[in-house]
This record gives sequence, structure tokens and C-alpha cells, in this order.
Amino acid sequence: MGLATAWALARRGAQVELFERHGHIHAHGSHSGHTRVIRHAYHEGSDYVALVSRADHEWTSLGQRVGEQLLVRCGLLEFGASDDPAFMAAVAALGEHEIRHELFDAATARARFGFRVPSDWPACLSPDSGYLRVAPCLSALRAEAEAHGATLRYQTHVRELILGGARPRVLLNDGTCVAADQIVVAAGAGSAQLLGPTLDSTKPVERLQVLRRVQAWTRAAEHLRPGMRALPVWAAFVPEGFFYGFPDNDEGISGFKLACHTSSDPELAFMYEPVDPEHVDRTVGDLDLQPLRAFLARYRPDAGEITATVTCLYASTTTEHFWIDQHPSDSRVVIATGFSGHGFKFAPVVGLAVADLTLEGHSKLALERFSRRAQ
Ligand SMILES: Cc1cc2nc3c(=O)[nH]c(=O)nc-3n(C[C@H](O)[C@H](O)[C@H](O)COP(=O)(O)OP(=O)(O)OC[C@H]3O[C@@H](n4cnc5c(N)ncnc54)[C@H](O)[C@@H]3O)c2cc1C
Repeated sequence: MGLATAWALARRGAQVELFERHGHIHAHGSHSGHTRVIRHAYHEGSDYVALVSRADHEWTSLGQRVGEQLLVRCGLLEFGASDDPAFMAAVAALGEHEIRHELFDAATARARFGFRVPSDWPACLSPDSGYLRVAPCLSALRAEAEAHGATLRYQTHVRELILGGARPRVLLNDGTCVAADQIVVAAGAGSAQLLGPTLDSTKPVERLQVLRRVQAWTRAAEHLRPGMRALPVWAAFVPEGFFYGFPDNDEGISGFKLACHTSSDPELAFMYEPVDPEHVDRTVGDLDLQPLRAFLARYRPDAGEITATVTCLYASTTTEHFWIDQHPSDSRVVIATGFSGHGFKFAPVVGLAVADLTLEGHSKLALERFSRRAQ
């Protein structure tokens, strides 16, 4: 989000300096794992729908400008029990927002896509959704930000945010203090630490928490891989939790990727325990893989064994809605955080919105839901 903000501000002629603690793309934050779902029917709120649509447009035109495919429009398959409220809300949102989709029964889902969908469950395909290729997306934003004069300083850790005074400042780890007319804090899992002393922990949105998640890749038998590669992105609303994944592809790690967003297994309650982003255990153990293996055994036994894993951090608000707003005690500081495990697809539109807030103090984009007051 910081990079997208630098991109949007630089294109509007602002003088931009970005400080990134690690490198351009890395595995310490929220964007690791090479691919991200882009879905268009947001049942979490209709205001998201217009933002996804704008983000889709921005990713597509950015890709055309840099000559690279950023968005793979392979479609999104969703399935679940017809009494699953989240699944039914997702299906209803498709109709409500007139998003192209096809509803079918379990037998059709099994025959077309190979998932072992229980016989009385419906399924749905929305062909215009798909996935974003993380590295090309971030590299395209970087290339345009730099072409428009943004200075991107990597391996540069911001230790402290200093509010008040004639201009807000950041203190870097090497002791340098940098003042600016405006500052944007888009530090993902590092946001609470940076904003901490200035936040009121009694307000829900300000109780940012960091959750650890695991993404895994499997390798199907070679003769099955062409079929796995032709799959859409998929989301499964099953009694065991909410699982999602990607067609077999070669983005960073070759294979069929899947992950568990929520689990109903009490043994996995640790998934909801906040972690300290500075001391995350990145070793992936059997308990991490338990829900994924159980999902594969029941719904996708032909996917093969898990061959690779990557940990990733959700930087979540308690409502799971983003936090995009001016700082509560200094309007010269804009906050863009709390993307709660579903923000990547929005990056360019978040960049545009944050650029509006920074340069004009308001935006025509629908940001009310993301303000501190709304939460
Ligand atoms: C497992 C997983 C799956 C996901 N799947 C999807 C999906 O399918 N679709 C989707 O749309 N979204 C998805 N998301 C969410 C999405 O990836 C995040 O919402 C998005 O990457 C958040 O971007 P960010 O810029 O806030 O955080 P990050 O990408 O983590 O960037 C924050 C940056 O700030 C830097 N930083 C932090 N503190 C400091 C500091 N003090 N000084 C300098 N730099 C600092 C970090 O190094 C980092 O590079 C998923 C997330 C996870 C973890």
C-alpha cells in the first residue's frame, strides 16, 4: 500500500520519499506468497464493489503500460452448503451487483473442476475474477513511481513517528530525522508499533492485531497437472472453515496453492491469537498443515502432497474493514492499514485514495467505511 501510495502521489507531481524496512518484495509482511485473489462481488459491503472495479481497471491499464500481465482472469469458483450464510451472501452479492456468474449443481462442479463437492451443495463461477501476480504487480507500481520521480529507500527502518511541531517527522533507525509536509503510514503488520504511542486502544479500529497464516503448495501427479493448471481460483465455504486456492501455476513457487482463512477446529484456535510481528515463528509445523491436509483429503485428493509452505501476516482490524483515514490527532498524517487479509487487490485504488487524502484532505472515492469514525 505504501508503494501504491508513492505511485499515485508521484504521478500527481508530489515529491515522494518512501522508507521500506526490507527489500522491494519480501516474506516478512503481508504480501508474501506470490499470488492474490481478486474477486469482484464483495458481500462484506457494497462500497467495496466499486473500489474493486476501479482497482481492476487500474491493474489492467498499469499492466498494459508496462507490457506485462498483472491480472490472470481465470475465473473464481465458489462452493458451499446452501445454508452457509457467508457463501449465500457471496452468491447474493453477485446478483445484486450484476456481476457475470453461472450457478450450477455439485455434479457439474465435480465434473468441470474436479473438487469433491458434496452432492447437495451449489457452486458458482464468476469468470471475470482471478488472481494477481504479486511480483509483477509490485514491480510495475515501483517502475512507474520511480519514473515519476519517487525516491524509494529500501533497507530503511522507521523507528518512530513524531507528531506535532511545524512539520511531522520520522526518525530512522540510523538516527536521521526526516521532516515532511505530510506523512503516510502504510506499514502493514508494523503499523501498530509505529502508531502505537499515538493510538487509543479503546477504539476497535485502533486495536490492530497481527495474525499468522500459512500458505501451502502441492504437486499433483504430472498427468493431472494440465487439469490443475486450467482451474479457476477457488473459495470453499465448508464446515471445516473457509479455504481458498489457485490453479497450479509457476508464480514464484510452482504448484497448486491453498490456504485456510478461518477454521472451525478448536485445536486450531491459535490461528486467532495475535502474534508479535517482530518475533513470528516462521517454522511451519504439522498443526499448521493439519487443516490443509484434511481439506485436501476430503475435497481435492488428486492435488498431491504439500511440497512448499510460506508464512504470511494479516494486519487486521477487529471489524476486518480497512483503516484509511487521517491520523486522529494530526491531519498531516494519513493512515492506510488494517487490510485484514483481503487488501492486496485494492492496492492501486488505495494508493489513489490515500493520495487524495494527503493532497486534498478528502477523496471522491467511497472511504466512509474505512474512517475511524465509522468503525
Ligand atoms: C496468507 C495471506 C493471503 C492473502 N490473500 C489475499 C488475497 O487473496 N487477496 C487479497 O486481495 N489480499 C490478500 N491478502 C491480504 C494482502 O496481501 C494484504 O492486505 C496486503 O498485502 C497489505 O499490504 P500492506 O502494504 O498493508 O502490507 P505489507 O505488504 O506487509 O507492506 C507493509 C510494508 O511496510 C514495511 N514496514 C513495516 N514497518 C516498517 C517500519 N517501521 N519502517 C519501514 N518499513 C516498515 C514492511 O517491511 C512491509 O514491506 C492476504 C494476506 C495473507 C497474509
